Amino acid sequence: MVSRVAIAGAGMTGSYLYRLLESQGMKADIYGDAVSHAACGINPCAWGSTSSFRQHVRAAGLDPGQYVFKDFRVVNFEGVDMRAHLLTFDKPRLINDLRKGVEVLGGPVPPRRYERVIDATGLRRAYLPRIKADLLVPCVQYRVRRERADSSKVVIQYGNLGYSWMFPLSDNEFHIGAGSVLADPKETLRESGFMNAGGKILCGCSGKVRSTSPLDSQPFVSTDSILGGQVWGVGESIGAVAPIAGEGIAPGMASARLLAANWDSPGKYTSRILKEFSWMIDERKVIDKVAAGQRLGLQDWLILRRTGRRMGAPVSLSETRELLKCLTKKKSTSRRDASMSNECAK
Ligand SMILES: Cc1cc2nc3c(=O)[nH]c(=O)nc-3n(C[C@H](O)[C@H](O)[C@H](O)COP(=O)(O)OP(=O)(O)OC[C@H]3O[C@@H](n4cnc5c(N)ncnc54)[C@H](O)[C@@H]3O)c2cc1C
Repeated sequence: MVSRVAIAGAGMTGSYLYRLLESQGMKADIYGDAVSHAACGINPCAWGSTSSFRQHVRAAGLDPGQYVFKDFRVVNFEGVDMRAHLLTFDKPRLINDLRKGVEVLGGPVPPRRYERVIDATGLRRAYLPRIKADLLVPCVQYRVRRERADSSKVVIQYGNLGYSWMFPLSDNEFHIGAGSVLADPKETLRESGFMNAGGKILCGCSGKVRSTSPLDSQPFVSTDSILGGQVWGVGESIGAVAPIAGEGIAPGMASARLLAANWDSPGKYTSRILKEFSWMIDERKVIDKVAAGQRLGLQDWLILRRTGRRMGAPVSLSETRELLKCLTKKKSTSRRDASMSNECAK
């Protein structure tokens, strides 16, 4: 049984894993780093998630109701209202509660002190070997206070080789951001018109999202001669991020649960991660196509449809076709004109 364990990275996944291990009677030291504190208090300032969030939080012995800001049953995608199951939550509070009473240690993990080091350093992947085919998508996000705006739904708009989002945090605060495969995400956001409605920008954060998929983020476990033990990756460090949506919170927690459940077998851990997140491989292929400027075919849209389903948005085949038509058409028109006339919703 491994007894001396360090978790490097005190973000969402590292803190969650800490709590899971503790509930299994295992002690770990946790190492953080100061870079995580940005203007919005935490970086990346990601506070949106899918329905599985609740079940993951419960598995760590906490009450999800304490953290959820808002639940959404509707997402407006390109002017079309669709059913969905999304939520926003208080991420800094959840992270604090997950590592309550624990001192987060500074500096790098010292050599030869631990039998196992968990790499939960997200994008940085500080202790695992470099990924050759890494696909990192730049994102930007602002917290905006806006009175009298519609806070009942999440709004998503495709464009400029990426997409823009508007996630209500309360009746008058929103996370408004964008990510793009090739273009500047600020330009994608500008093109969406989401910032035009005014309001006060409270803070902002930026960063990249690993859209690589776990398949291309291997190995998940390696031996490090300097640390003198094994390194196991978890969360975004091993590509547990939905490549299209850029959603890494719930997948990070799911990967931590797989790690805790397969604690003694690197082989089983690897195969369970690859199985659990096999759908991410297809999503990555779609992104590669977009980045290469290739046209998306029906097969790709079926993958996007699966993405929608996973996020609680069951898009019918005819709706998928409509969206495909709409998206192709909009490329040749002014996005602002198109969204103002709500072209896609017709
Ligand atoms: C702008 C933006 C918005 C996003 N929005 C969403 C969203 O709404 N929903 C969603 O699900 N996902 C979102 N994501 C993605 C999501 O934030 C990440 O996938 C998720 O945070 C990954 O969690 P993690 O704990 O694995 O990594 P991280 O959250 O990145 O945590 C890693 C931690 O390790 C620390 N660290 C780094 N290097 C070291 C080191 N050498 N030693 C010790 N510590 C180290 C970092 O400071 C950080 O605290 C967004 C990403 C961005 C950039």
